[in-house]
Amino acid sequence: MSGSASRLSAIQAVNNYKPISAPLNFSETTAGELFGTNVFSAKVMKDRLPKSVFKAVMKTVDAGEPLDPAIADTVAAAMKDWAIEKGATHYAHVFYPLTGLTAEKHDSFLAPDGNGGAVAEFSGTALIQGEPDASSFPSGGIRATFEARGYTAWDVTSPAYILENPNGTTLCIPTAFFSWTGEALDKKTPLLRSMKAVNTQAQRILKLFGHKNTAMVTATCGPEQEYFLIDRNFFFARPDLINAGRTLFGAPPPKGQEFCDQYFGAIPDRVLACMLDTERELFKLGVPVKTRHNEVAPSQYEVAPIYENANVAADHQQLTMMVMKRVAAKYGMECLLHEKPFAGVNGSGKHCNWSLGSSTQGNLLEPGKTPHENMQFLVFCAGVIRAVHKHATLLRAVVAHAGNDHRLGANEAPPAIISIFLGEQLADVFEQIKKSGSASSSKQPGVMTVGVDTLPPFPKDAGDRNRTSPFAFTGNKFEFRAVGSGQSLSGPLVALNTIMTESLDYIATELEKVTGGDPAKLNGAVQTLLKTIINEHGAVVFNGDGYSEEWHQEAAKRGLPNNKQTIDALPAITDPAVVAMFDKYKVLTPREVESRREIYFEQYVLTLNVEAKLTQEIAKTVIYPAATRYQSELAATAANCKAAGVDFDPSLLNKLTGLIKSLNDSISKLEHLIHEHCHGGHGVSNPQKAAEVCAKQLKPAMEAVRAVVDELEGVVADDHWPLPTYQEMLFIK
Ligand code: ADP
Ligand code: MG
Repeated sequence: MSGSASRLSAIQAVNNYKPISAPLNFSETTAGELFGTNVFSAKVMKDRLPKSVFKAVMKTVDAGEPLDPAIADTVAAAMKDWAIEKGATHYAHVFYPLTGLTAEKHDSFLAPDGNGGAVAEFSGTALIQGEPDASSFPSGGIRATFEARGYTAWDVTSPAYILENPNGTTLCIPTAFFSWTGEALDKKTPLLRSMKAVNTQAQRILKLFGHKNTAMVTATCGPEQEYFLIDRNFFFARPDLINAGRTLFGAPPPKGQEFCDQYFGAIPDRVLACMLDTERELFKLGVPVKTRHNEVAPSQYEVAPIYENANVAADHQQLTMMVMKRVAAKYGMECLLHEKPFAGVNGSGKHCNWSLGSSTQGNLLEPGKTPHENMQFLVFCAGVIRAVHKHATLLRAVVAHAGNDHRLGANEAPPAIISIFLGEQLADVFEQIKKSGSASSSKQPGVMTVGVDTLPPFPKDAGDRNRTSPFAFTGNKFEFRAVGSGQSLSGPLVALNTIMTESLDYIATELEKVTGGDPAKLNGAVQTLLKTIINEHGAVVFNGDGYSEEWHQEAAKRGLPNNKQTIDALPAITDPAVVAMFDKYKVLTPREVESRREIYFEQYVLTLNVEAKLTQEIAKTVIYPAATRYQSELAATAANCKAAGVDFDPSLLNKLTGLIKSLNDSISKLEHLIHEHCHGGHGVSNPQKAAEVCAKQLKPAMEAVRAVVDELEGVVADDHWPLPTYQEMLFIK
């Protein structure tokens, strides 16, 4: 294998890689014994708290009742003792700012005792409330710069946990983060508010169906996380991967994913070792990781947990991303969570499986074997159809960011058109309702036999899968597939919960009106309403191929929006109807929505600015020198040939010279735009306008530089090529 010195040493390092830690032994401590050992769980609380205090805490956790602050001191003391027994020296309020990342502020338990010694202290107040300086987190104008204060507040419903480090452990407390005016500066606060809102409306529906004493309805979520693992030696040799999380250059390798030899293939040893270690750490933290497999692109994988209450699932997802990155480094690998680290092969998503359920009613989107008879299910399902149709642009907006622009609407991920896949059975039921106002049958799946006697016959699913739909019913839940691999789940969950809240409110109001409290009238009222909903909102249902050109045309005919990029999609979050909805259900105030729009545009601008500067810098200081060195080598060869009186074919030298000229031209254009438009560090004064410039000018200018560089990669001698190639990064492990 040829290559520049840095590439060769990276390859050598991969080849000589040895694991840095002793092998794990799951027979010594089984996964079951490990699970939740670092979690201040209900079980730990039951063992350590006085009965009355434990009961009070669980009332908040299970029934959503307000937290009684009087119990905080007792809980804090128990938490502290438990944490110190586990080696903790510090506690941290963990919060989720609008960057989508996880933030934490650590404080020591120790306080001077007045006699030259120290005591470990942790008061109820310190548990309940923290006060990190908020000035460096995006606030979108909510927090005036002179008022830097931000508060974190203990989220009792998401369990505290211990984070281990070889040199000590930290007690981590999930918190909500808001300004001194009480406005949400984070992703968790609106999520908690939306959980409350959806419960209120779902309870009205359950009541109509005659249920009494029902438990709190919660949104549930099970995310499937896709990611890449590549050797860190390559990663460190790629400034674009380090700083932008994706490759800004790189010609497609001769072999990509066309053989489908990666998907569900045998997991390479080192990767599997890393997965096992990651899972072990996540087990300790009580994250119920379940599934692992190879994904479609080379070096791409997926992990999914068992679903949980959406708030806990969102926190666990943030933890999962952090643990994945940390553990990968231990195995000499970098975990890439960007939506599109490599052009030309599949990008990564985070499928957000979502449903509603409660401990007394179970899963509210469970159709049973005969969905046409299951009125209650049909009502909830129709609620989703109505919500998604009415608020397709909001759903598109909450997955709009710079990374996802490389994925959505391209030919692999779901298209930017939001539609619902219902599957054959359900689509048929709703079709019957549409035609005759009621449904009298459900297509039955039957039994499948494979023609091999030793294989058992097994029940066929009532519908096939559809990978091309952005929003698919998958048997007992909906799967929102447009979420980006690197983004926080909270935005999409807040949107799903809130649009569902609005739909359920509408449905409950209609049904209450028509039945006037008479249960005998319910059946007729539901049939009429379902028919109305499917007539008004059925256009969003589509069971065909979402990638096809016909669908794009058909969707346009149906009036479904197709917002291709962030700049087209993001403005929808401040549509008057959306602002009013968030306000009505007390999920976000108009000011909070407005600030989010600012911040998300600003994030987009900052991302593109960094990418543009990196493109310029790498092209100029890494690629150009390599190209001109090779040019001078060829020119020297030409001169030598001439001196020796032999022919020299100048075509390659001419081609290279032409490309170097194009490279310089494209860099100049990009440099000019950067000079005009990128003013890092001073804040972005009109984020939406700046975003337009980024999308319409900066991005094409970057792509122009990339096009030349990728062409140069096929021309410049391999031993001069400075960056690890796609082939090396994706296939050498
Ligand atoms: P797939 O149908 O995509 O193969 P799986 O059955 O493996 O899916 O589930 C994918 C994810 O969906 C898992 O995280 C799973 O826990 C989650 N899931 C299953 N049921 C629900 C539910 N009721 N609510 C939310 N997520 C769910
Ligand atoms: Mg799935």
